[in-house]
Amino acid sequence: MNHFEVIGGELHAEQVPLSAIAEAVGTPVYVYSTAALQQRARAYKAGVAKVGGRTHVAFAVKANPNLAVLRVLANEGFGADVVSGGEMTRAMAGGIAARDIVFSGVGKTRAELAQGLEAGIGQFNLELEEEGVVLAEIAAAKGLRAPAVLRVNPDVDAGTHDKISTGKAENKFGLPIDQAPAIFDRLAPLEGLNLRGVAVHIGSQLSSLAPLEAAFERIGRLVAELRANGHVITHVDLGGGLGVPYRKGEVMPSPEAFGEMVARVTQGWDVELQFEPGRAIAANAGVLVTEVLWVKPGVTNPWVIVDAAMNDLARVALYDAHHDFSAVKPSGETFVANVAGPVCESSDVFAKGREIDLVKAGDLAVLHSAGAYGATMASMYNSRPLVPEVLVSGDRFEVVARRVSAEAIMGEEQVPDWLG
Ligand SMILES: *Cc1c(COP(=O)(O)O)cnc(C)c1O
Repeated sequence: MNHFEVIGGELHAEQVPLSAIAEAVGTPVYVYSTAALQQRARAYKAGVAKVGGRTHVAFAVKANPNLAVLRVLANEGFGADVVSGGEMTRAMAGGIAARDIVFSGVGKTRAELAQGLEAGIGQFNLELEEEGVVLAEIAAAKGLRAPAVLRVNPDVDAGTHDKISTGKAENKFGLPIDQAPAIFDRLAPLEGLNLRGVAVHIGSQLSSLAPLEAAFERIGRLVAELRANGHVITHVDLGGGLGVPYRKGEVMPSPEAFGEMVARVTQGWDVELQFEPGRAIAANAGVLVTEVLWVKPGVTNPWVIVDAAMNDLARVALYDAHHDFSAVKPSGETFVANVAGPVCESSDVFAKGREIDLVKAGDLAVLHSAGAYGATMASMYNSRPLVPEVLVSGDRFEVVARRVSAEAIMGEEQVPDWLG
């Protein structure tokens, strides 16, 4: 079921007409559906349940760190995959227990490692040998043993956009898989560490299961080798990365197919399998609602200038992403146009030469599939207010992040006295 549907001529989020939200909150505004989040969370859990053994699903907080969204997922029994101290604090504020938090990331600071230890988080995913040494030192000084796994780079091409590819040898993530056994040998004896497994995450928006399967097979061989070397391996983190449809009618591997593949590849591993989905849970649970400001004549196609921009939704400018665009009250007529925001950058363009619903100034429209890597990447570039977020449930909606004004940010700035 799609939770963003045209009902009686108007696009709704569940049972709420988007014009009602636009009227109450203004535009641009992100709108999330609770039911859509729940449905995807449950489908993902059902998919990975196919492995039979112990599983732990941690939502990749960077995909959508809104506290209300985290609460929905905490209520679904999700843990959290965090990549900073700030995300760790948020995950706990969102109701996720420290023991269900996995701390990933290539540049954790000493302060963040200490924060994780003090909070008692469930696992540190180590990116390099020195990080393990430092974590062990900090933990031992506190009389603790840090639960940890080594993130390895399996040198697999995820077949996704270069800027969201993380598992090729030349990427900054993980340590080379061929060096993992020696590094494991050196780190495992450290007093402050409970080094108990390995992790892998090869990239995001994967449209095929094949690269994931190839990576997992390599991980399986590594686990066998580590065990042969006398190590006790109890946890394997298989990361996130499952792709989602961004175009109407597009088909992506389902959580069910993913779970079946994982069950097949990991048979006999006898470990707790961990997963870190972000996009698969949140992307299609949100839209960005915007108002058409002007329709400006162009050389080849007209420019639909909307009040949302690249600072609100960076994915298009950042990695040529596609977001479907449609009118909140579609007339049935279409035209070929470009869609762009007001920011003074030529990369602030959401669509070029695309057939879209016919819109005119004052109409409301949406950019679809904006629930992941949307609001979380927003900035105030061009001194635009920080975009607000709304959560819908049934016929209710509530602002879950207020619009932050340029004035509020100016309040944090200061002109030195010596400038007069
Ligand atoms: C970003 C990230 C994820 C989530 O990726 P999705 O494609 O959103 O599922 C999971 N694990 C790690 C380590 C990440 O950096």
